[in-house]
Amino acid sequence: MIRDEKRLAALLDSVRRFMNEVAIPNEERVERENAIPAEIVDRMRSLGFFGWSIPEEYGGAGLTTEELCLANMEISQCAVAYRARAGTNTGIGSEAIIQDGTEAQKRRYLPRLATGEITGCLAVTEPEAGSDLLGGLATVAVEDGDHYVLNGTKRYITNAPIADLFTVLARTDPSNRGGSGTTTFLVERGTPGLSTGPEHKKMGQEGSPVSEVYFRDCRVPKSAVLGGSTGKGFGAVMRSLNKQRINLASLCTGPAIRLLDEGLRHARTRKQSGHAIGEFQLVQAMLADCKVEISAARALILETARKRDRGEDVTMDVSMCKYYASEMAGRVADRVVQIFGGAGYCEDIGGSVPRFYRDVRLFRLYEGTSQIHQLNIAKALLRGG
Ligand SMILES: Cc1cc2nc3c(=O)[nH]c(=O)nc-3n(C[C@H](O)[C@H](O)[C@H](O)COP(=O)(O)OP(=O)(O)OC[C@H]3O[C@@H](n4cnc5c(N)ncnc54)[C@H](O)[C@@H]3O)c2cc1C
Repeated sequence: MIRDEKRLAALLDSVRRFMNEVAIPNEERVERENAIPAEIVDRMRSLGFFGWSIPEEYGGAGLTTEELCLANMEISQCAVAYRARAGTNTGIGSEAIIQDGTEAQKRRYLPRLATGEITGCLAVTEPEAGSDLLGGLATVAVEDGDHYVLNGTKRYITNAPIADLFTVLARTDPSNRGGSGTTTFLVERGTPGLSTGPEHKKMGQEGSPVSEVYFRDCRVPKSAVLGGSTGKGFGAVMRSLNKQRINLASLCTGPAIRLLDEGLRHARTRKQSGHAIGEFQLVQAMLADCKVEISAARALILETARKRDRGEDVTMDVSMCKYYASEMAGRVADRVVQIFGGAGYCEDIGGSVPRFYRDVRLFRLYEGTSQIHQLNIAKALLRGG
């Protein structure tokens, strides 16, 4: 649902200007320094990028799902690190609070997440709890008077090295292996017993820090229980991941749009046998396949976003979006490397193309692997969904 076409157009225009004037010219610097320069993060804060999904009453823009998807498709046309910097605040680092937090938790955290004053993250994955989040969950929280004491290790947590607020899934009832044995906690940086590890050395997405998070006898007050009641942790995490899956699908689409632009530019300018390579029909086929798949992903995502905005159940649809868009981005990146020839493989010649090729690989792995989404879709179909 688009509430106000003019306001949305102004927002998308500001994103495009930021991308063209600031983000794209600094992509190589971000990669080299493995960080987004502080002044650029400040610019993103002043443009309101951290508050897109946060309700207006808590200082955000309160974008609908469709509006958020459209904004995501723009911001993700520059290096992935930019949107990842703000992306936990407009996604997994705030969504559980928006959907399941108490009023006091919303008032305490959402306004500062919206301005980007603090950075949020979601810490659910563990060394032994990946796709089987629930079965493998080993982080425990034990009641102790007015507090809970957390022990455990989280792995691969986006923005953990710079986060101020951790949304953490833990088991509060060791005898209960189901979702009702789990609770989500909001843990602030600086709480004794909470620490983060060194950054994982990733194959791409430079400038987007990811690390482990350690809880060692970490005492949090009962007011840190998300929503104020125990036994609801897994449900809250899954609700926020459901929203995140459509977010991520739109964030897979931007890189594919940018890659196709790069592919077209190269196809027009690179000459072989006296012809621009874009005149060769086999190259044309690759360009056409990219365009068709990007358009199909965009259509599926926006249709699902509208359904979600109408309040319909989109559990299977968001899996379709995430699965299709992430695989699509991989195929587009692969074709554009092919169109670039050797330049697509050489970082010093191919510009953003080799970098995007590495960056988009992650999309098929996190927020549910492709296999997990295939299973979700098939199970929903078999149930008659
Ligand atoms: C850079 C990065 C950032 C991340 N950010 C976050 C974050 O912010 N917060 C967070 O909590 N997590 C985060 N993750 C974790 C991510 O969500 C997990 O890596 C992902 O869920 C997969 O879990 P796993 O790595 O343990 O793989 P596994 O679950 O071990 O899967 C390995 C392989 O087995 C397949 N597989 C597993 N189970 C099944 C099954 N039942 N049927 C068929 N195939 C199966 C998988 O599809 C995959 O191919 C991040 C990961 C990375 C790499």
